[in-house]
Amino acid sequence: MKKQTQAIHTDFQSPDAYNAISMPVYHTAAYEFDNATVMADAFCGRSDAPDYSRVTNPTVIYFENKIKALTGSKDVIAVNSGMAAISNALFCIAETGKNIVTSRHLFGNSYAFLTKTLKRFGVEPRFCDLTNPHEVDAAIDENTCCVYLEILTNPQLEVVDISAISQIAHSKNVLLLADTTLIPFTEFDANSLGIDIELISSTKYLSGGATSIGGLIIDYGRDTEFSKRMRTEMLLNIGAYMTPHVAYMHTLGLETLDARYRVLSSNAAVLAKMLCELPEIKHVNYIGLEDNPYYELARKQFGESSGALITIDLESREACYNFINNLKMIKRATNLFDNKSLAIHPASTIFGNFTDEERNRMDVLETTIRLSVGLENVEDIFQDIRQALTL
Ligand code: PLP
Repeated sequence: MKKQTQAIHTDFQSPDAYNAISMPVYHTAAYEFDNATVMADAFCGRSDAPDYSRVTNPTVIYFENKIKALTGSKDVIAVNSGMAAISNALFCIAETGKNIVTSRHLFGNSYAFLTKTLKRFGVEPRFCDLTNPHEVDAAIDENTCCVYLEILTNPQLEVVDISAISQIAHSKNVLLLADTTLIPFTEFDANSLGIDIELISSTKYLSGGATSIGGLIIDYGRDTEFSKRMRTEMLLNIGAYMTPHVAYMHTLGLETLDARYRVLSSNAAVLAKMLCELPEIKHVNYIGLEDNPYYELARKQFGESSGALITIDLESREACYNFINNLKMIKRATNLFDNKSLAIHPASTIFGNFTDEERNRMDVLETTIRLSVGLENVEDIFQDIRQALTL
């Protein structure tokens, strides 16, 4: 089966009593046992029987198994946000005195998690330019516990040569953890590119139109201990497992992922070209534009569709605020890959609490607007942008 078909037709293992064709939502906190022995076996991992929904739930397991089948991974753990996926995976791997080799081009909360939260536990974020493999090579030392990157950075839209970085990391016995939120896992083979652990905000492409918050940790099995530790330690002690209702919604979202991604990407590709013609826009950044510096690498890694994220640069911060205020149809909102088009000024919102110096170091500009292109008719999206620029 091709991935689109598999996303729809991977069935749940035990048939529903009523032959329901959607996965039943098991809204329960706990599960009863026939006797003390089977109860002890479930609690101590000697059986797969669910015991408590902070660590396991049949609806969530169904969602996890679908992703496992689609990615060919060793294990998939669904959690309750993209940030929970990132923080739990890094908590699972990091130790006091170790360092994480990464880039300053990261989603704002991921950057803050590394520079504030993990740093308080004595883990050093070690920043380098991930587009320069020599810098990565030089940054890794005997205390490096992993390389952490975004395969397409938000909002700089920098594309990392994943194979080049993974070869360096693996040659030094270091794991590569990648946030792959901006390109759906159905579009590339993370495992063959050398990603060891994929981290995803399923809130974005997967949720089926911004229905709910969720995250995924996809383990390709290069660290034999990782998913065992995630399930037996992190889920129990941190408590960020996905809830069954979210798993149900993200399972439905998965079924339409391919169809939505095609339309979102083709809308974005058409729109990006149209935006290049507007004199008020100083620069259009979209990896699907042929003159984009990452065009070839993005095609090689992620295929013909380039996703739905575009940034545009205007004259000034004031011009950005005017533009945002003038929008009529496009929503003034954060989030990505909703069915609706969304616009945000990242410097004053997602990155608003960083200092000017930090923002400069992260290449988050005052003049940039981030657009998440939706499923509307592309002419309507363009007309709203045009009127908002010229009002
Ligand atoms: N990673 C990236 C690249 C993101 O854009 C986001 C959210 O915007 C996240 C992670 C965090 O995901 P969530 O909002 O589901 O916690």
